[in-house]
Amino acid sequence: MDKVDQLAGWIEQSQHIVFFGGAGTSTESGIPDFRSAQGLYSESGQRGYSPEEMLSHRFFQREPELFYEFYRTRLLHPDAQPNSVHHLLAELEQEGKLSAIITQNIDGLHQKAGSRHVLELHGSVHRNYCISCGRTYSLDDVLAQEGIPRCPVDHGIIRPDVVLYGESLDSDVIGNTVAALGEADLLIIGGTSLTVYPAASFIQYFRGNYTVLMNASATAHDRHADLIITEPMGQIMEQIRQRRYSR
Ligand code: NAD
Repeated sequence: MDKVDQLAGWIEQSQHIVFFGGAGTSTESGIPDFRSAQGLYSESGQRGYSPEEMLSHRFFQREPELFYEFYRTRLLHPDAQPNSVHHLLAELEQEGKLSAIITQNIDGLHQKAGSRHVLELHGSVHRNYCISCGRTYSLDDVLAQEGIPRCPVDHGIIRPDVVLYGESLDSDVIGNTVAALGEADLLIIGGTSLTVYPAASFIQYFRGNYTVLMNASATAHDRHADLIITEPMGQIMEQIRQRRYSR
């Protein structure tokens, strides 16, 4: 049996699929990840700063202008569209087979594809708030301004509701993540180097039947996987969609 048949078979057998994903889920939508050869870490540092530094809480406080320059040019991709990974997962949720998507991504593409139960471990570029009064703003509000976006009411800095390096994850999201993994029968891990903590540690709560790891490069979790697929995951998920449609 080939790997795509194997994955397709497990998907059909399962009733509580959980997908745990990272930046590689969206590379086929044109959003660069961090650690691939074409990823943001391969770019020479921005004015001597690493992307990790520029996306830290400390940097945001000290250099909001540089933070926003990097954030706007590298992390905001308002025109990106969901690819076959996002679409297949939304279809599986619609059919009642997938119980949660746990993502490290901040791009909102799962919701754009129609998924509802998305646990965003690192927040979302679509939610923003004024750091002085707490009023909330959309991504369009941020895009409508240049440089550091300011609250029109009290002129406070608007920041994205994303978890910067050095900040804590939301405890409700963590609780729901652990619960979803504990009840899952099939875990599909996709497009993540599994190097960002604590996010990567949550997959240990999976107790179900099979773990599928879809990642172009090796990860520390490979030895725990029942199936490893290294081909571009959008292409693989599209093959699975085609097989399901033609049944
Ligand atoms: P990462 O860059 O560390 O790892 C991505 C992994 O995906 C790599 O191992 C790469 O080999 C693999 N990959 C890339 N394209 C693939 C494809 N088409 N098919 C299969 N595998 C593919 O990303 P990470 O583990 O998510 O950690 C980086 C952090 O940066 C996360 O917190 C994430 O939120 C954030 N980030 C998010 C976005 C986004 O929202 N789209 C983009 C860049 C970074």
